[in-house]
Amino acid sequence: DVTRKPIIAGNWKMNLNHYEANLLIQKLAASLTGEQLEAVETVVLPPFTDLRTVQTAIEGDKLAIAYGAQDISKHASGAYTGEIAGSMLAKLGCTYVAIGHSERREYHDETDELVNAKIKAAFTAGLTPIFCVGEGLSIREASGHVAHCTAQVDAGLDGLKEDQIKQIVIAYEPVWAIGTGKTATPEDAQEVCGAIRARLAEKYGSDVAEAVRIQYGGSVKAANIASIMAKPDVDGALVGGAALDAEEFASIVRFKE
Ligand code: PEP
Repeated sequence: DVTRKPIIAGNWKMNLNHYEANLLIQKLAASLTGEQLEAVETVVLPPFTDLRTVQTAIEGDKLAIAYGAQDISKHASGAYTGEIAGSMLAKLGCTYVAIGHSERREYHDETDELVNAKIKAAFTAGLTPIFCVGEGLSIREASGHVAHCTAQVDAGLDGLKEDQIKQIVIAYEPVWAIGTGKTATPEDAQEVCGAIRARLAEKYGSDVAEAVRIQYGGSVKAANIASIMAKPDVDGALVGGAALDAEEFASIVRFKE
């Protein structure tokens, strides 16, 4: 759909100290023209400790690269040792925040209820959530993937206003394809992204459903991005491993060429 601007986001996970983060931003800036960055919204999601450095690099060179965090506290402030509030991320110039990544759900016991609270905290702070959903291998093998993902979407968006839902980015990331080298086929990606959009249309109307950008994530590389992006309900990608290599990530951003 021409009305939805493609969005390619790089999730750095727990990689790169702030020196290395600066180097990666400089390399990305050298690999992408202003025109290429204009055509595709390009986002990086560094660890919290890199955000100030990334802000300085991006603002200093006036780069059209957005950035954000990989997680957020559901709380606004206070006695929550080790947590990071949305207002702190907003103050550092973050636009986005990933919420409900499968690694958070799996290793930090994040429930749909917590994910919903974090999405609300993001909006309160003026951040746009990149809201992650996706099924594990056993659910996929039992053909429960569509029902699982649409239920996660329902739970995550519970109680949000229509204008908030329109703004959100949803990332469909089949857990069995994350960091495994196994990519879902473009048809697999389309099946679930299309079902998510249909579910949004059913609950909130086609106006809302057509506005929401839906990404695919799971072993995306320069070699497979174009065929995935060719699908009508896939508006972008959430990229893990390949986002740590400036040349590879830049090639993914240039998927149209
Ligand atoms: C991710 O972390 O969101 C991801 C999709 O990782 P990878 O691209 O490495 O599979």
